[in-house]
Amino acid sequence: MIETIRPLIAKHLNRILSIRWDIHKNPELSKEERKTAALVADILRETGMEVRTSVGGHGVLGVLRGRLPGGTVALRADMDALPMEEKTGLPDASFVKGVMHACGHDVHTAMVLGAALALAEMKDSLPGTVKFIFQPAEENNPEGGAPAMIREGVLKNPDVDALFGMHVWPALETGVVSTRPGALMGASDRLFLTISGRGAHGSEPENGIDAIAITAQVITALQTIVSRNVSPLDSAVVTLGTISGGDRYNVIAGEVRMEGTVRTVTPEIQDRMPGRIRSIAEGVAEGMGGGCSMDYVKGYPPLMNDPGLAERTIGKLKGILGPDHVVTAEKPALGGEDFSFFSREVPSLFLWLGCRPAGVTKEEMAPLHNNRFVPDEKAIPLGVEVLVFCALDFLESRKGEGERK
Ligand SMILES: [Zn+2]
Ligand SMILES: [Zn+2]
Repeated sequence: MIETIRPLIAKHLNRILSIRWDIHKNPELSKEERKTAALVADILRETGMEVRTSVGGHGVLGVLRGRLPGGTVALRADMDALPMEEKTGLPDASFVKGVMHACGHDVHTAMVLGAALALAEMKDSLPGTVKFIFQPAEENNPEGGAPAMIREGVLKNPDVDALFGMHVWPALETGVVSTRPGALMGASDRLFLTISGRGAHGSEPENGIDAIAITAQVITALQTIVSRNVSPLDSAVVTLGTISGGDRYNVIAGEVRMEGTVRTVTPEIQDRMPGRIRSIAEGVAEGMGGGCSMDYVKGYPPLMNDPGLAERTIGKLKGILGPDHVVTAEKPALGGEDFSFFSREVPSLFLWLGCRPAGVTKEEMAPLHNNRFVPDEKAIPLGVEVLVFCALDFLESRKGEGERK
């Protein structure tokens, strides 16, 4: 199979790279991916496949029906960029002031288009259907572009049996892919707490309720959620990133506001967090005579890879790329990713694609969401190869089973 895939990708590689730079130079923010979506739709149409546009915003769906009966597999890419000024100094840097592809979604879109170009040429021998999902607004946490596309039926008719997605990963060197069964990316929630007391003269604490003294106890008590309510074998983070309150050195503060983030790696722990935080913060504040109000904004759920699909794919990829090039990740990462919405609906696998050039250390490599982030272009053909392989290999495993409606 791989002998058929590699020459096809090599044939389209220059085109894939130029598509990537075209998207990179013309980045569009979440929910504004008009031009990117139009470019994606044009390229998909060229192959003769069925194309739907404006799916859940600027989303695009391509449906490639193979000549042979079989199951349905989907590949997903995200298309949006970030509101930041590119500082890479590249000649092909962003043309748009204050907008940059700093999360590699230009690469993801180009790679899935590359997979579409290659797979379309294999249509006559394709056992089943491949869907190509290009989603908008991945960076738009907590809303995300994925739920709207799911509501518009991208996973239905024919029903998707397995879904694959990929993210460039600067911690890993070019030539390596990595993933793991179960949790791969965490949930990222936002927390707003307001502690209220009663202001008074700084010399007369008996006449006031000190919101700052209450806040100190609340912060300390919140740290026990991770140490005392979460199993030591699971993980979670509660970070309060801002705190502000008080008016003057000699006035007892009447109010303190805090903002923070909560990261978890399983849906069960994510669901438990708001209740624990609320009862501790309210209980401590009320016990000291004050009050507490909380706003909790649930972000993307944890990204859970299907264990069976992950084990099977890791094994197969080791066979074609060599065991050194396929790494089972030891731990999930705690950044949010809205591929997680798809992974709640159908068996899914998300992979990390190494993009740190040879000779560049982890410390030297700019991370994702940094305005100097430059993923190694040499990673792109491997990414396309892995996506095409995952799709084909899955369809081969379902050969002759027929599509589910
Ligand atoms: Zn991002
Ligand atoms: Zn991203």
